[in-house]
Amino acid sequence: MRIGVIAIQGNVEEHVNAIQRALDRACRRAEVIKIKHKGLVPTCDALILPGGESTTLGRLMGKEGISEEIRKVAQAGVPIMGTCAGLVLLAKRGDEQVKKTGQSLLSLMDITVNRNAFGRQKESFECLIDFKGLESPFNAVFIRAPSITGFGKDVEVLSEYNGVIIAAREKNMIALAFHPELTDDPRIHDYFLSFF
Ligand code: GLN
Repeated sequence: MRIGVIAIQGNVEEHVNAIQRALDRACRRAEVIKIKHKGLVPTCDALILPGGESTTLGRLMGKEGISEEIRKVAQAGVPIMGTCAGLVLLAKRGDEQVKKTGQSLLSLMDITVNRNAFGRQKESFECLIDFKGLESPFNAVFIRAPSITGFGKDVEVLSEYNGVIIAAREKNMIALAFHPELTDDPRIHDYFLSFF
């Protein structure tokens, strides 16, 4: 079994460590690899799309040919977790900001994304959120986080904060506005492991 973390930019190391911890906890063995180039995505059984800057990430992934590979494996049912900028990239539709930048999205989840939804004053913050399936609140770290403003019928909302959707699942894909890899709480990476 092999798990790939897209390593073009952003919180790569943190995700590698977090998924490794989740694997250890579950007594499961898998190779965790960092993906910078074309050719590796099709060899993975699951993928993580970290946070970073979605415009840059989208551009570089497209140029490298990784975006096309991700689209193919996603449609074949390979589990994918996108956090923050990763959520933006997974979305099919974007707000004005996304339209203005003309950034390329992977267009895989039937969600509409609002980039930088939490505004200037609250560019970064932490708070306890309820997350579907978790028995107690999760300490979520938000860094210039997006939100989900619309979703299709196959999308399951997993978490809301002040009435704003911050996590959702569609079949094999999960999108999170916050950064579970930046806390010691492994429960969301554990949840992702349950996909495969
Ligand atoms: N605001 C960033 C973007 O839209 C995402 C921030 C993050 O990933 N921490 O690309």
